[in-house]
Amino acid sequence: MKTNFRQFLKNTVLAIELGYRIVRGIDYQTLSQYILKINKHNDINDILFEASRCLKDILDYELFGFALKNVNSMDIWIDSRIYSASFSEYVSNDFGSQNIDAKIHYFEKNLHFDSHNSDAIEINNLISYTVINGNSTARLYILPKRTMLDYHDTIISTIVDSISIALEKNLSRTLLENAAAIDPLTNCYNRRALDSFIENDIAYAQRNRKDLSIIMLDIDNFKGINDTYGHLAGDAVLREISTMLPTLVRKSDYLARYGGEEFVLVLPDSSLYHAVQLADKIRKTIERRSVRFEDKSITFTASFGVACLENKTDRVSLLKEADERMYRAKATGKNRVVPSLLPCFADRSFVLQDRVPHYAGAA
Ligand code: GH3
Ligand code: MG
Ligand code: MG
Repeated sequence: MKTNFRQFLKNTVLAIELGYRIVRGIDYQTLSQYILKINKHNDINDILFEASRCLKDILDYELFGFALKNVNSMDIWIDSRIYSASFSEYVSNDFGSQNIDAKIHYFEKNLHFDSHNSDAIEINNLISYTVINGNSTARLYILPKRTMLDYHDTIISTIVDSISIALEKNLSRTLLENAAAIDPLTNCYNRRALDSFIENDIAYAQRNRKDLSIIMLDIDNFKGINDTYGHLAGDAVLREISTMLPTLVRKSDYLARYGGEEFVLVLPDSSLYHAVQLADKIRKTIERRSVRFEDKSITFTASFGVACLENKTDRVSLLKEADERMYRAKATGKNRVVPSLLPCFADRSFVLQDRVPHYAGAA
């Protein structure tokens, strides 16, 4: 009898062990499938969505969250939405970042369908895993529904590591892309970036029958500024242009440094009439503004050429038109705006407002 009982116990232990091994094997298989998916993605939302699905399959969590804190910003991803308020408060306390406004993201395909009372959640039972990388700290939070077995810790750590590697890859790619597109002196787009963006915007405008205008501006007598105040003062003037112009335009407009002291402003969805008005507003602002360099105050002006897509079909001819108009502005006295002639007069509102004589040199 005793022997039978002992045998029964032994078999039960063996069965449990076997069951444990099978479940562990399945969990590891699930993990490796999701790691492959995580590695394929570049977008942080997709990476975290795959990580949340993996943990949902393995641990069937009540709550999954991820927080990423950089110097002055904080992003929080959460599944499910119902715990949003209590979770973001918990995370802010956890990071000691109550003063930073966190941006909350939800997964598009919400995996959590149960309707729970959010007060019922034991938020203090959340398990967290932290990764620190340079100036950023990331933390994954999970409240599992299933009992955590010893190997689950390894599984979550592996997921956290893959998220961290994917984010790092993503960050260095973005930095490289930015470095290739940004002019280091003025921090605005360089000519290479302009060429690529403007091609896309022209294609979009043509597909959707939208306007697109560009303003080319060249600082007047810039060589004189360099000669009088020095090259560093000239650099300060260039930086002033690149910080001032974006404050005068819409968010969808963008500025590029086209050459030494030449800039191009691209205005998607803007008629020639509006572009000319904007160019003149910029011209007046520049004329009134002065740049302080050491103990000197430097004033300067610029000349503008404006062109719109209406009668131009590609990037090269559009830029050429703006360039020709800009040189016309130079030739007729500088510190002025010259629009392309035909579409400008075709725009009734432009003529009706009797603005034409104001923009000298439209010939
Ligand atoms: P205009 O009114 O006809 O445009 O005359 P300008 O003197 O502005 O034009 P010009 O083409 O004669 O001279 C442009 C000068 O801009 C010459 C060049 O040394 C200077 N320059 C080009 N890039 C930079 C830069 O990055 N920093 C500084 N400080 N000067 C630059
Ligand atoms: Mg110049
Ligand atoms: Mg020039």
